[in-house]
Amino acid sequence: MNFIKRLLKTKKTTVETTLTITSSNGFHLRPIAQFSNEVKQFESTITIVAKDQEVSSTQVNQILSLGLEKGDSFILRAIGDNSSDAIEYLESYFQQLMIDDKEIEEIKQEEESYESISIKGQTIGKGVAIAPIIEYETYERDDNRNGLAFREALKIAKKELYELYIKNKTTDEAQIFLAQQELLSSDIFRYGCTNIKIFRNIIKDEITKLENTRFESRISDYKDIEQRVLSHLGIDTIIELPNTPYILVAEDLLPSEIMRLMDSQVAGVILKKGTPTSHASILLRSFGVPSMIIDDIITPSSEAILDANSGNIVVSPTSNDLEKAYNRQIAFKAFQEIGYQKRFEPAITKDGKKINILANTTDVISAQEAKEKGADGIGLLRTEFLFQENRPTLEEQVLTYAEIMTIFDDITIRTLDVGGDKALPYAPIPKEPNPFLGIRGIRFSLQEQTLFREQLLGIFLAHNQKPLKVMFPMVSSVQEFNQAKTIAKEVAQENNVDISNIKFGIMLEVPCVIFALKEFDKIVDFYSIGTNDLTQYLFATERTHPSLHVSVNSPMLMSALKMIKNNITKPISICGELAGMEEVTSKLLDMGYDTLSVSAKLIPSLKERIRDS
Ligand code: PEP
Ligand code: MG
Repeated sequence: MNFIKRLLKTKKTTVETTLTITSSNGFHLRPIAQFSNEVKQFESTITIVAKDQEVSSTQVNQILSLGLEKGDSFILRAIGDNSSDAIEYLESYFQQLMIDDKEIEEIKQEEESYESISIKGQTIGKGVAIAPIIEYETYERDDNRNGLAFREALKIAKKELYELYIKNKTTDEAQIFLAQQELLSSDIFRYGCTNIKIFRNIIKDEITKLENTRFESRISDYKDIEQRVLSHLGIDTIIELPNTPYILVAEDLLPSEIMRLMDSQVAGVILKKGTPTSHASILLRSFGVPSMIIDDIITPSSEAILDANSGNIVVSPTSNDLEKAYNRQIAFKAFQEIGYQKRFEPAITKDGKKINILANTTDVISAQEAKEKGADGIGLLRTEFLFQENRPTLEEQVLTYAEIMTIFDDITIRTLDVGGDKALPYAPIPKEPNPFLGIRGIRFSLQEQTLFREQLLGIFLAHNQKPLKVMFPMVSSVQEFNQAKTIAKEVAQENNVDISNIKFGIMLEVPCVIFALKEFDKIVDFYSIGTNDLTQYLFATERTHPSLHVSVNSPMLMSALKMIKNNITKPISICGELAGMEEVTSKLLDMGYDTLSVSAKLIPSLKERIRDS
């Protein structure tokens, strides 16, 4: 009997599907890392079978070594519980990855020539730079006394990369950090990799495998993770850069080195190796650095021209050359400006629907920046940032809110949202084992009403009868909203302030609210969806978790957003990070969302994306 039970227990279902690489970039590191990260949510053992090999689908280095190119197929095999669900989901996720992985178009170069000899090359990022050319030099400094133990250094490096991914989620560089984090999480660095010597040897072997293959440019990612781990062992790579503008010529650059260049006065970059799709190139483009790949000897010079728009490097320019380059530089900046200038124009879809693009802000400076970036208003003022260092007085609060209200007409102020990962040094927030599930947001304000009442008064006094929206964070029941609104009315009454122009709403970020929308719809004036917390609670995945991550494209998350939109009648916006992620913009518009509140720097591009929808 026990034998049969054991047999039944170990009987696993195997489900397979065949997938084909349709992206002309092949199955390269970034989509592999995204795919592997997605696989981790399933319990079944999932493998990839191709070229007579079967490799784990969570091991990016193994998948990478298969060298799958456009047109190649592989079998995706899942063994274990829920394997058909896993295959069904991963199949559609993979297909979407292939669609999203657009080939990087070759940048067309303009016809232009210079009097002096020029060296021709391939453009990475557009622009014209005029500056001295310097060669890239680094050296290692071993300060072992400050180093961590090897396994600890590895752990911290992984955590750092994940945090960089989360922090930059809406940018091109995010996937690079995720890819490196996944590489570092591979089994090769887990079992038997107990000291730096073994670690460096493993890296060396992986690099050898990539040499002279189509995926050679991934070598720099291995070098980069090596440097990152070494730095935590007290071995730093020192880069010496001038503090005046310069054009850097280097064999190749690691992504982390480019991040370091960005803190200096880099005017242009010339790479001797690499491709326009390498991670170095992606970063250079995304930071707007004029840059080229040159397969030739470039000597340092005191004044040179890097004209990436026409693909010319002039090492010894004449005065006419310099004048021409200078004019081309001005003309290019003006051209970029024209695109940027459209940021103040409304975001109207091709079928004529206006989408409100609001900004998430924290204080007067960020509100001014939002105005400058073309925001139509403020969709989320995270007031807790005003309270962070010291407790602001009522007067200070009134002045700050009033100043922000002079910048925009359409403003949504969120009352203090502390607790969870947001501490307030002077507030009596209890220390709890699970702070994200404890006294945070409106729960704190209702329990400890002094700050809440004072803040409401500050907002009411500042608004001066201008239309305004006030919203409460982390509301999870109708009673909480009613209680918060009653307090607001009491504050207004006690202080004789007219709040008839103020609307009250909630952050929709606790999943149980989705099941009481009928009741909420009768009492709130508006909603704003906080997808950061909503995702955290829907998926039981801490938003700051170093290794767990929920895909922005998750069909379950999309269903939740659709369900919300279909069950409310009051105005609604989205203000979590998801609102600014262009890969889901068209899905959100299709669901009927017409107000998105995002980080200011995303506004010009998001508006343009909407105009194209
Ligand atoms: C959210 O949870 O999505 C949100 C916008 O609020 P915060 O990130 O400040 O918690
Ligand atoms: Mg939140």
